[in-house]
Amino acid sequence: MNNPEPYLFILIAFVLSFFLTNVVVSARLFPNVSTWLPAAAGPPAGAWDAFRNFSGCHHGDNFNGLSNLKSYFQRFGYIPHAPPLTSNFSDEFDDALESAIKTYQKNFNLNITGELDDETLRQIVLPRCGVADIINGTTSMKAGKDNQTTSFGNSKPRFHTVSHFSLFPGQPRWPEGMQELTYAFFPGNELSDTVKGVFAAAFARWSEVTPLTFRETAAYFGADIRIGFFSGDHGDGEPFDGILGTLAHAFSPTNGRFHLDAAEDWVVSGDVEKSALSTAVDLESVAVHEIGHLLGLGHSSVEEAVMFPTISSRRKKVVLAEDDIQGIQFLYGTNPNYNGSTATSAPERDSSNTAPLFSWDFFTLLTFNIFIFCFIRFIYW
Ligand SMILES: [Zn+2]
Ligand SMILES: [Zn+2]
Repeated sequence: MNNPEPYLFILIAFVLSFFLTNVVVSARLFPNVSTWLPAAAGPPAGAWDAFRNFSGCHHGDNFNGLSNLKSYFQRFGYIPHAPPLTSNFSDEFDDALESAIKTYQKNFNLNITGELDDETLRQIVLPRCGVADIINGTTSMKAGKDNQTTSFGNSKPRFHTVSHFSLFPGQPRWPEGMQELTYAFFPGNELSDTVKGVFAAAFARWSEVTPLTFRETAAYFGADIRIGFFSGDHGDGEPFDGILGTLAHAFSPTNGRFHLDAAEDWVVSGDVEKSALSTAVDLESVAVHEIGHLLGLGHSSVEEAVMFPTISSRRKKVVLAEDDIQGIQFLYGTNPNYNGSTATSAPERDSSNTAPLFSWDFFTLLTFNIFIFCFIRFIYW
């Protein structure tokens, strides 16, 4: 070897290769739990935080900004019609708003006061799914089931034990012959295997209790279910709203679109409930919920159900409740191997792992380092 200083080149190669790989790894679009700074105290500021100012508002009041709350209720189906194009919602606490609040309170198991009491406002500002609770004017949540919900607190139910699961109007489902559904990720997101694994775990929750199976495919446009992270207006008339507010939405069968708000602080692994960031949202929890929509379930008034419309930040809820299972088995039947319990048998992700959303695994890093080393060696010798 003619080179007088081979050790120097080896050193340069290794330093350069590790520098390059670290540059790539640090380009995280979504933060890792362990890298977050402690958040300020108090409730997280979200898209609907200003609604807290309406505390105590009731019928007849006129309060600056109430029109935004009406838009909120209209968006989730509680006010049936948008105002004419020539005018906006008024700031008056009118009959339509009072009626919307009462229906909302019924659906969310709150005291039906028709007023913006603190308990109601606490529920309203929680982050939630973008799918409406009332579709085409019909709620299949609790407010739409009053005639059937007689078994609670009543030893002689007039009808039968109540389920609160709901279905989309017309009860759409994937066709009988389609037991395997394919899913794909929007190529532009370039998701890591760790992230894809979160979605696989979420799909597994549903296949555990039904005959359905799910298989990832690379063919995005040919897949039955198409998953992507998007920001703001992304072309389907349901724009995302930044931090918190609506977190994600999905369409009923057999549409297959599943969109997540790229602006959220998605937690892929690690204990979301111990996160210092008040806006941390657990990815698997939201994925399990949205897959319920993709398969045909609407929202449920059962708070323990994954199909309940809201989820607090820093909360993990991934185990199907009895209500969810009844709903999905109503549509698809049961998995012959299902033993009647998901609470312990559902696959749990390793919560001690705090891998970032976009990361390179050890072997990829090693391979890349070796490649860089060989490349530099080739140039010098
Ligand atoms: Zn939903
Ligand atoms: Zn969308």
